[in-house]
Parts: sequence; C-alpha cells; structure tokens
Amino acid sequence: MPNPKTYQFNLPRTGRPSDVILNEVWYPGIQAYWEQSTSSRIFDAILGIKAIVIHATAGSSSAGAVSVMRDGKASFQWLVPDEDEPQHGQVIWACAPEARAAWHVRNACSHRDVNDGADKVNHWSLGIEVVNNQTVRDGFSEWQVQATAQIVRYCWAKYPNLKHVVSHAKLDPTRRSDPGAEFPWARLKKLVLTPQAEDGVPSIVMEAQPASAISAETSPKGCCRG
Ligand SMILES: [Zn+2]
Repeated sequence: MPNPKTYQFNLPRTGRPSDVILNEVWYPGIQAYWEQSTSSRIFDAILGIKAIVIHATAGSSSAGAVSVMRDGKASFQWLVPDEDEPQHGQVIWACAPEARAAWHVRNACSHRDVNDGADKVNHWSLGIEVVNNQTVRDGFSEWQVQATAQIVRYCWAKYPNLKHVVSHAKLDPTRRSDPGAEFPWARLKKLVLTPQAEDGVPSIVMEAQPASAISAETSPKGCCRG
C-alpha cells in the first residue's frame, strides 16, 4: 500500500506546458466568503509560487468542503467534485483566488524536500482539494485524477518558479494522511509529466498558429497607435 507521507514529485525546468486551459467555475456564492478565509500573500503572487499541495476532503460532497471555507476554518484554491456529484466530469470548482494565500497547511509545517524546508507553506503554494471519503470503499475516479493533473499543468504553465507537487500528508505527517493511500499518485505524476494526446490538449488551441511562426506586422491595421 503506498504511503501518502512520501507523495511528492518535482516539475522539471524543461517541458513546461504552454497550452493548458482550465475548465474552472466559481463555486456558487463562494465569492462572498473567500476574503474571510484567505490571507494576502507575503510573497509575489506569481514568482513566489513554489508548490502545489494535494488534499482529499475526507468528506463526501463539495458542499461539505465549501462549508468549512464559508465558516472561515480552512480554504483552498480548487475543489474537484466527487463521482456522485453532477459536476463530476464537467467542471472544477474555483474557491479562492490564486493570488491569495489559502489556509490548507498549518503555518508551522515544513519538509526539507519542499522549498528548502520553508514554513508558512500557504504563502508560497496553491491548494487542491479532491472530494473523497478517504476510505477503501471510495476510490478516486480517473476524471478526478485527470482534473487534478490539469490544474497542476495549468499552474506549471503559469508559475515560472513552481517546482513541487506534494501531499498534505508529507507536509504534516503527524496529523494528516491525505490524499490517502488510495490516491493514484503515480497516475497523477504520469498525467502531469508525460500526458498522451488523448489526455487532452484542446484541438482549438493546437490549431492556432504558433507564436514562433508569426512574422512581425510592420503596419498594424485598425490599431490605436498614437
Ligand atoms: Zn489536507
């Protein structure tokens, strides 16, 4: 049985994707609550991001996870719906702005393998919660793993200093075990680092002319210069 306290992989400097579209939608009404359950980042909101932390909710619904955030107890940037919710296979819930520090890891936690052992993880990370009971009866769906990988690739494309993908359990091993032994960590790693064509780069993106092939326009028409 895999040990979630060991779950980590690092993103190489090369191979950074540039073509990721994240199919995210605000959880209804959560915009009214994120401010009370997140903090201003103490590091640059783009250059300061070093890690993504993977969690599982230990609950059975997105609403249950959101209630914790609404009550100001914890927060996370994204929530991946469970397979018995209608949004499963459709959308990823956005729950807090990426530019804010969400509250998903205790401030005192750190690990020497992650950002040189720095603490205050929330300030240099983004948090993903996957809705799952964390029991042997409730497996993670392939779509949940794909959605998680899609978020990681979106962040890898966006944040130039993002390096670590790590479990909550590794950062807080005495108190946490999520995303749990049932989470297919090796599958996540493969979907992030070596996705196959069928893993889904949208064809509409692939069909656009690559920037390297575009020649400079010397006389832009209809532009508002001057
Ligand atoms: Zn967690």
